[in-house]
Amino acid sequence: MPTLTSNLLKCKFLLNVSKSYAAPYCRSGREIKHQADVYMKEGDIEKAYILYIRCITIYLEKFETHPEYNTLSLEQKEYIKVTLREILPIVEGLKPKLLEKFRLENERKKRELKQLELQRIEKLKQEEKRRKKEEEDKKLLAMTIKTPPIPAKSFADLDDIKFKRQTPAPSAPEYIPTFNDSKAQTSKDIIKVPSVDRSTKPASLTSGDRLRDIIVPERLMQNFLWLAQSNTSQNIETCGILAGKLERNRLVITHFLIPKQTGSPDSCTTHNEEDIFDFQDQHNLITVGWIHTHPTQTAFLSSVDLHTHCAYQLMMAEAIAIVCAPKYNDTGFFHLTPEHGLNFIANCRENGFHPHPSDPPLFTVAKHFKIDPCGSIESVDLRKK
Ligand SMILES: [Zn+2]
Ligand SMILES: [Zn+2]
Repeated sequence: MPTLTSNLLKCKFLLNVSKSYAAPYCRSGREIKHQADVYMKEGDIEKAYILYIRCITIYLEKFETHPEYNTLSLEQKEYIKVTLREILPIVEGLKPKLLEKFRLENERKKRELKQLELQRIEKLKQEEKRRKKEEEDKKLLAMTIKTPPIPAKSFADLDDIKFKRQTPAPSAPEYIPTFNDSKAQTSKDIIKVPSVDRSTKPASLTSGDRLRDIIVPERLMQNFLWLAQSNTSQNIETCGILAGKLERNRLVITHFLIPKQTGSPDSCTTHNEEDIFDFQDQHNLITVGWIHTHPTQTAFLSSVDLHTHCAYQLMMAEAIAIVCAPKYNDTGFFHLTPEHGLNFIANCRENGFHPHPSDPPLFTVAKHFKIDPCGSIESVDLRKK
């Protein structure tokens, strides 16, 4: 049960400010901008726009007004200014493009609905035709049954009957619905031009209903356990950081980093966290979660683990905690319940091991991850550095 929280609390801008609750925002801003850049490169301007706005919100609203903002060095403040100067014109440039995109989407939907309406009308016409044909056939049949035998001599009568048989019954006026019909009006009403507000909800990507999938290479767990082996055999915990890249809206774990640390049977404390950030920045890696061993216990999240994980999940809604319990041959993939646990732990001010209420559950097995049997994983052991 490592105390990795300090890892996130001490970000580059706030290295001298320990246990700051504002600190995760700065690291978060940096990683969010990185994700936005990826979406930009991949041409997904809507998601890029949302994340750039989120980054601006963090730097302008949450950061500058934070009581600890003044503890930042000039260099650190300059970094934020430079980043904002870079992002603001991008966001301004994206706005008209997004509006145009929404307009085109809207027109396409209108065309599709019109097409559907035309198909519906055509179907009604065909049904009406078929119905009329059936009625005619029925009438004809009835007429044939009622018609008495025709005397062979009366050719004039015969011609008359033939004529009658061929004359169709007068048709009923056709019903042709128009776009002014009440139904058509309703379908028209469904289309609403999306307002710009749709793209000004920065939280929707990272804390919306739909979490992005995390791709976990199958080899990650065995490679991590292998590097943790000497600790595990001495009943000492080992922890690591899961890092990766954003790719087509999925978070792919590509690396795990093992920082310098000291462990015990039920805890693990990291040191020199700057090494982790340096490596991640050099390799453009975003933080996707963390992993740790329970040498003798089962796979679960202790109270300390919950607080550690909270910092990760606040930084990115998808962040997961992987717990390897080799003694039980068990692996858990957890996260705080987004609707309750995250908020509860974020507001809990207790330290060390302490009881939490368990109902409703504070954490649960994550559902937004997929194991990739072929995915490659790189281990970075910073303990040797
Ligand atoms: Zn633990
Ligand atoms: Zn607590």
